[in-house]
Amino acid sequence: MKHESPQPSVAPSAHGFSPGFAALGLEARLLATLDQLGYEEPTPIQREAIPPLLAGNDVLGQAATGTGKTAAFSLPLLQRLAQAVKGNPAVLVLVPTRELAIQVGEAMQRYGKELRTRVMTLYGGQAMGPQFQALKRGVDVVVATPGRALDHIRRQSLKLGQVQIVVLDEADEMLDMGFAEDLDAILEQTPATKQTALFSATMPPRIKSIAHRHLKHPTEISIAKEPVKAGTAPRVQQTAYVVTRPYRNAALARVLDMAGPKSALVFCRTRVEVDEVTAMLNSRGHRAEAIHGGMSQPQRDRVMQAFRTGQTELLVATDVAARGLDIPSVSHVINFDLPSSAEVYVHRIGRTGRAGREGTAITILDPREERLLRSIEQVTKAKVTVAPVPSVADLLAKRLDRTRAAVQEAMQAEDMDGFRGVVEAMAASSDPITIAAAAMKLIFRAQGGEREEQDIPAVPVRRPEFNQTMRTMQRPGGRPGDRDRGIPVRPGSRPPQGRPGRGGKTAGMARIYIAAGWSSGIQPGDLVGAIANEAKINSKALGGIEILDRFSLVEVPEAAAAKIIDVLGRTRIKGQKVVVRLFRE
Ligand code: AMP
Repeated sequence: MKHESPQPSVAPSAHGFSPGFAALGLEARLLATLDQLGYEEPTPIQREAIPPLLAGNDVLGQAATGTGKTAAFSLPLLQRLAQAVKGNPAVLVLVPTRELAIQVGEAMQRYGKELRTRVMTLYGGQAMGPQFQALKRGVDVVVATPGRALDHIRRQSLKLGQVQIVVLDEADEMLDMGFAEDLDAILEQTPATKQTALFSATMPPRIKSIAHRHLKHPTEISIAKEPVKAGTAPRVQQTAYVVTRPYRNAALARVLDMAGPKSALVFCRTRVEVDEVTAMLNSRGHRAEAIHGGMSQPQRDRVMQAFRTGQTELLVATDVAARGLDIPSVSHVINFDLPSSAEVYVHRIGRTGRAGREGTAITILDPREERLLRSIEQVTKAKVTVAPVPSVADLLAKRLDRTRAAVQEAMQAEDMDGFRGVVEAMAASSDPITIAAAAMKLIFRAQGGEREEQDIPAVPVRRPEFNQTMRTMQRPGGRPGDRDRGIPVRPGSRPPQGRPGRGGKTAGMARIYIAAGWSSGIQPGDLVGAIANEAKINSKALGGIEILDRFSLVEVPEAAAAKIIDVLGRTRIKGQKVVVRLFRE
């Protein structure tokens, strides 16, 4: 952050709530909610954004998903709203996608629980009827995608005359999706006196211009770009495994099974998560103990003693709890959550690879947090390999290899005479290889090798050379993915990387927007296949394909655009029904 405040102390304040959050000026009911959620301290963006927002200032914040920006704007807005007259919505949050609308709506509901804030989420694809009724009954906060918000404004079911605060979340994505005019039209309906907060992962000139038009003397907040001091980032092998939310637990267990760490620190963001993860790992046969700020000193001492003596192999901790601990160097640091800043990341992985020993850091990564990971990578100047979670087959191979290693080690032992006799006797009537294989099978089973494993769907991984928000593939110029596979690609009509096509489209071609991207596993081939097979369009007729986190853009012949949109809108792409429409520049 621009003005990094000092780390707060670990000790809870007199009333038991996080002193870090209390110092920002948040009221008791919100502090109580944060305490229940297990948040121990504010993230950097929260430290920076909450005070000016509470003071009623406009804010222009550069922050990626995963930095805690939802709470950074929600908490102060909920507090200001609590003092306001209820009735027509007082807060309007605009977000680019339905998924984000749901996520932000749920988060605001959670944060506003004690304040009894009524939050409503509006996005396309839902029936309008129930939305009309709910809006009529009255809501405090509306979280909406621009298209649906405008629909309601036009039907006069959403009245913005009482709006006091507007948040534009992931503004760069909203512009990428062609919502610029819609945003202007919506903001026009809100009072000039309102407070506005704009958050965006990137700050291109188009965002600056929106900010210039709609924000009044905003407090600017951005993530620090200065690299971490040379020598502070340890030499640690770093890997991140990408997995969607429902599979996080399974992924953590899988990764731990694969790594077989002697001693590992597993980091979580909240106390609640620490307890849940500890219980989950123990239920899967690991020996894990929790350590967090909510525990008494004797409890912590007991846990630390068990960890130091090797009785416990996994210590599951929050950052705050770990900060105060004298923990010996561990073989592995596992980030169950990517931390909200590079500083915390460096602090975490500094627990391994000490004193010239080898260290490994593993992160379980939400696809939406890849951008945050890349910014951590830039700041720490360290390479993090991003890979899909190991498959069930990978794990079985690893387990078998462990059995083999155990047998190999046992073969070095000298006290085997008794066993030799048994094998010799058996070998008189059975094949020795069969005997050995059966014995190995038993060991494999005893080591838990036959434990049933759940399939974890692979999430396509973006390669470092595609560090931008999106990966662009040009056609003609090679098959989808050729570049990734190291196959030389014939140059297309425009450079193959970066953001070609953004500025304008090719003559005679139209661009269609498909509401599915990397985060739902879409590959270029899926789009080409769907268009070729369903709309019967020769794949050679297609132009550039751009796949972003949550949507894709495909250049198609203008004459066929309407047909393709119609057909694709009715079929499934990779098993999903998705919104398809003409892309507006
Ligand atoms: P966001 O960047 O808003 O998507 O938040 C990312 C995640 O961090 C969410 O799962 C939040 O619940 C969590 N989170 C936000 N603020 C904090 C905090 N101060 N302490 C712990 N977890 C947090």
